[in-house]
Amino acid sequence: MSFDYDLFVIGGGSGGVRAARIAAGTHGAKVALAEEFRMGGTCVIRGCVPKKLMVFASEYPGMVEDARSYGWDAQIGGFDWSVFRAKLDAELTRLEKAYRGGLSGAGVTVFDSRAVLVDAHTVQLADGKTVSAKHILVATGGAPFVPEIEGRALAITSNEIFQMDALPARVLVVGGGYIASEFACILNGLGCKVSQYYRGAQILRGFDDEARGHVADAMRENGVDIHCGTDVMRLEQVDGGIKAVATNGSETVFDAVLYATGRKPNSGGLGLEALGVELGRAGQIVVDDYSQTAVPSIFAVGDVTDRINLTPVAIREGHAFADTIFGGQRRRVDHSLFASAVFTQPEMGTIGLSEEAAREREPIEVYATAFRPMQTAFAGRPDRVMMKLIVSQASRKILGCHIVAPGAGEMIQLVGIAVTMGATKEQFDATIAVHPTMAEELVTMRSPVRTG
Ligand SMILES: Cc1cc2nc3c(=O)[nH]c(=O)nc-3n(C[C@H](O)[C@H](O)[C@H](O)COP(=O)(O)OP(=O)(O)OC[C@H]3O[C@@H](n4cnc5c(N)ncnc54)[C@H](O)[C@@H]3O)c2cc1C
Repeated sequence: MSFDYDLFVIGGGSGGVRAARIAAGTHGAKVALAEEFRMGGTCVIRGCVPKKLMVFASEYPGMVEDARSYGWDAQIGGFDWSVFRAKLDAELTRLEKAYRGGLSGAGVTVFDSRAVLVDAHTVQLADGKTVSAKHILVATGGAPFVPEIEGRALAITSNEIFQMDALPARVLVVGGGYIASEFACILNGLGCKVSQYYRGAQILRGFDDEARGHVADAMRENGVDIHCGTDVMRLEQVDGGIKAVATNGSETVFDAVLYATGRKPNSGGLGLEALGVELGRAGQIVVDDYSQTAVPSIFAVGDVTDRINLTPVAIREGHAFADTIFGGQRRRVDHSLFASAVFTQPEMGTIGLSEEAAREREPIEVYATAFRPMQTAFAGRPDRVMMKLIVSQASRKILGCHIVAPGAGEMIQLVGIAVTMGATKEQFDATIAVHPTMAEELVTMRSPVRTG
């Protein structure tokens, strides 16, 4: 049977673009890709990239304040959102072009259209045209999820935040995950008055308890008004803003309410169920270790599979899929160990198991330190850094590393190499420190603070 293409990719985000480029450019497959919005997907257009640029923007007031403590006659003026937004829009357009260039350079045919599945080898574009392919890769990502509360239409999500016309003076961030916590810090740094409501007992669920406590304390010190155990019951448009009626009995008016209460896989309306592709309870496409669905010609990678919802993981999955199907090398992605960062202020970098998860698995030693780093201590700031290693008593391997510090994301990337290689505590100890740095503490912690 002959097909129009060897591979049709639905979704031009992190996973889809990588799979298409490797399949076509490296392995010589005939590939087409459909994207219904903007090339680059969530990460480039409304996720990691614009968010990180906003993180940078939000850090300048603190830097200027510190500069004064170091003797500089520095003054920060006002923040002009419209200037920043215009530059941001231009940068995203540049990146989108670069993604398109990469695809066309690899010989991929791009359809700027929504695509849905018709059968195991056929997709239909928005104009009704059908295209056949030997393999179909679904890489449609995820979307913000806002619970069914009264007045939910008044809320914005991370999709809209980069498009705001003006910065709100008073913002409520609802949610306790990394996206909610990052935006709470960003908006606080940009000068907004920020409240954060989270229905759980502590923000950043799933991360090491001590690290999350450390981040939450520092966020509060920096001015974010965090209310745990608190949820919004309804939102109302009132004179002068949006009133949030909360479970703690409060009724507070904000200029904007940002919901960051989780994301759902984009699997609806694609025609998957009718073809026999299994969906999980959250709507995620169920795949095996090689990203293959129950229908042998249909594969899925990235957030739509809800495995580890991070860009580098989606990229890895897309690459492994292309190598497996078109490169003759059966490759799978190990989801058990990955480094990641939370770009709160202070930042958190983490790899491996939290202390709590590790203790459930085996006897451990915990090495931890908290201290005031030289740079900000000199400036008179109360900021504290936390570093923590979880060590297996039996194998001596580092099972987890958690860092809360400026630049923690950069640090954990490097620690991640050693931990992925299976480094032991003794190998960390044998590493000569780089002095004076914050990260030297990672190789100079001699005695465990806890065992068991
Ligand atoms: C605010 C925010 C911050 C984030 N920060 C980070 C971070 O710092 N680090 C990190 O690693 N990850 C971060 N992420 C997560 C990261 O963006 C995702 O894990 C990653 O983009 C997933 O890639 P993907 O290819 O699975 O899907 P996506 O990048 O979401 O791409 C899916 C694409 O498919 C398109 N599409 C959907 N349905 C169809 C259809 N039927 N037809 C055609 N096209 C379709 C969509 O328009 C989209 O472009 C962040 C996410 C958000 C929302």
